[in-house]
This record gives sequence, C-alpha cells and structure tokens, in this order.
Amino acid sequence: MTRCDLWLRDATLVTMNDGMQVVDTGDILIDDGTIVAVGDVHPEQVEAKQQLHLDGHVIIPGFVQCHIHLCQTLLRNFADDMVLIDWLRRRVWPYEAALTPETLHTSARIGLAELVLSGTTALLDMGTVEHTDAIGEAVKDAGIRAHIGKCMMDGAEHAPGPLSEDTDESIRESLRLHDRWDGAADGRIRYAFAPRFAISCTSTLLRGVAEAAADLRCPIHTHSSETEFENQFTHDRYGMSNVAFLEDVGITGDRSVFAHGVHLNDGDCRILADSHTTVCHCPSSNLKLASGIANIPRLDDAGVPLALGADGAPCNNNLDAFIEMRMAALIHKPHHGPEAMPAQRVLKLATIDGARALGIDDQTGSIEVGKAADLVVLSLNDDPGCGPAGDVISRIVYTAQKHNVRHVFASGRQLVDDGQLVGVDLPRLMAKGRQAHSQVLEAMQQYVA
Ligand SMILES: [Zn+2]
Repeated sequence: MTRCDLWLRDATLVTMNDGMQVVDTGDILIDDGTIVAVGDVHPEQVEAKQQLHLDGHVIIPGFVQCHIHLCQTLLRNFADDMVLIDWLRRRVWPYEAALTPETLHTSARIGLAELVLSGTTALLDMGTVEHTDAIGEAVKDAGIRAHIGKCMMDGAEHAPGPLSEDTDESIRESLRLHDRWDGAADGRIRYAFAPRFAISCTSTLLRGVAEAAADLRCPIHTHSSETEFENQFTHDRYGMSNVAFLEDVGITGDRSVFAHGVHLNDGDCRILADSHTTVCHCPSSNLKLASGIANIPRLDDAGVPLALGADGAPCNNNLDAFIEMRMAALIHKPHHGPEAMPAQRVLKLATIDGARALGIDDQTGSIEVGKAADLVVLSLNDDPGCGPAGDVISRIVYTAQKHNVRHVFASGRQLVDDGQLVGVDLPRLMAKGRQAHSQVLEAMQQYVA
C-alpha cells in the first residue's frame, strides 16, 4: 500500500525526462512535496489524503525561467518604444532608484502572481541595488523556487545616486544577502550574484564576484551582449569583446547565466561553449528593445547551454513562459528554416534546461520520482484554440496560453486551483499595485536625467 498526500489521476504526462517520455494516461503520486510515483499505479494499492481526477488534462513540469526582474513590474506599460540605453537612463534606473522596500515588495508580488498563474515554478531573478530582502520575502510567501540576487552597480555613468555603489559595499551586501537567503524557505530560495552588466560594473567588482561565487559555489547572473554598445564599450576600455572581457574577469562558467547573447562572434561562442556558460534567450525583450535576434540555433549547435526567460515587465511586457516559448519557436525559422527550434526543443528550454542552468535539475524541471512536485495541469481539450487534438507538445508550445493553466503545484503545495491563485486577494493586490505605481512614478521624477 502506498500512502501519500496527493494523487493526480488519469492525465497525459509530459515528463521531460531524458527519454522525453509522454504517458498518454497516467498518475502521479506526491508525498511530503516530492513525487513518489509516475505512470501506472494500482488504484487498489494507493491511499491518498487528496485526489484529483484529471481525465483529459495534461501535466507538465513547472516552467523554469532564467532571467526575470521582479523589481520592475510596476513599470509595465510605462517604458515602451525606446532604445535600451535611453530606456535604462530615462525610465528603468530612475524607477529602480525610487523604489522603497514596500513598493518593491508589491512589484515582486504582482510579478510572482503573474508568473505562478502562467505556470512558472522556478526562476532566476535580477533584483535592484537596494532592498533585496523585500524580494526574498515575496518569494518566500509565493511558494515557488527562486534564485534571487541583488543587482550590483559600482561603475555606471549616469546612474542615479541610490544605484551607484561602492565596490566593497556592493560585495559586502551581496554576502549578507547570501547568508540570509541562500537555502531559505526549506531550500526553495537560493542566492545568485547579479552584477548588472559590464557597462555598470568595474573589473574590480566583477573579479570580486567571480572569487566570492567560486568560494560559495553560487551562480552568477548578468546581462551580456544584448546590444552592440556593450561590445563597443569593452573594446574601447579593455580591448576585447563583451564575452571575452567577462571570461577575462572570471565571470564565465557552468554556474553562470548570461541573459541575451544577441551580439556574439565566433570566438564568443567558443568561450561560452568551452566554459559551459548558459545563455538565457529572451526573445520578446530582444524584439521590443530592437536589440536583435540571438542566434540560438547556432549556439545550440555549438553546445552552449541554453535557457529561456521573459526578462522584465517594462521590456516584454509579459512574464509569461507560453509567450516566450511561442516566440522562441517562431523567430528563428525565417533565418534557419522551419526545422529550427521545434516544439520539443523549446519546451526543454523552458523546463529541464532552465533547471540544469541553475544546478537544480536534481530537484525540478521534469516529472520524475524523487523530484519536487513542481507541476502544472493544463486544460487543452475544452479550448477550441488548442484542439481538437494533435501532438501534445505542439499544442503546449504553439497554441496553449496562460488561460489553459488549471492547477499549479510547487513542492506539492497547490498555488493555483482551477485557474485562481490560492491565498492571494488579487483585486486587493492590484489596487495596492496601482497605488505603489503612482507613488514610484512621482518619486522617480527627481532621478530622470
Ligand atoms: Zn534583464
């Protein structure tokens, strides 16, 4: 007899395991937050405290997004149609400088609500310079898995006062946050060092980050090669490309995640492949800021580890993994042919590959015995836009949307029940968000260049 907390019955299981196994009709047993059986179970031998009959539903692993800015959610739909450097200097940096612990907490909560409702159960966040504890608190309450990290900026020209840090102080504060948050909330929260990008960080800071991260075996999260300007900057200052510079200061490596990777030469690709540095593809953000289209098929062929991320609300303007998957599947085809980035490859990017990039693939990213029950139940059969039938992975990547998310579990805890967030008063949160938005918009005027 198997005794367990939760029994998910008779669903199609898209496991994302090594064999990419899809079980047409199967069950999942969950006990103490962990998956204890997948596939065929003998009903007479199961005793579950709770069971859900999911006939006609599809279960996938929760999405893992490797580049998110929870701090920027209040700036959604207020920084459109601008080039990156103006977008940063005139909108994002003044906004981030004006955040308080309270408004930052509200921003993170709204971002997390959107992420959870659209099936994301793990993420890598780049915070802002100050008040990072507020992001930790919001993640702790949201119930999902996250690597959080204070944004580090000790060398940015034109950055407003609150975002300009002393080098040693930036590292000290990161170490304090690591002590407080790494392993918090039963291990759901981990710490990642997050120097913003080469333009805003001195080489002394980056070398310090490389050293501290190696000591603590911690991931490093940065932006790289999003625009040609970053290459220009490192060429002028250090005589090398952006990626070559990051390699030189020790930031590349198998625990490093570089967001974007749009402007890379052959040498950069070799560095990324040889060092096993992950490139996080952010297709919507790269299109909206007109940064370009990252050559993801070429990086994939070269053996560069890849992941997927929505980036922040002001540059996307969604944090929805379904939109990023569809984008990642479509935008490479005109250049590389219709065979490029098939649905199965894209779904891996959004699940197990993301988990691997964060070093948590032993815990999440696929539906396997022993892993945490980070699961998303999709309802596709009642949606004319997802049917009537067809290949299940094609349905998920090309047609499904966030409204198809019926239930979400993270470490076995139900966060979404029948399309509704559990334990969150959403109208109240959104009202609080509107108030915080007005407050930050007024306060940021003092920092607008
Ligand atoms: Zn970003």
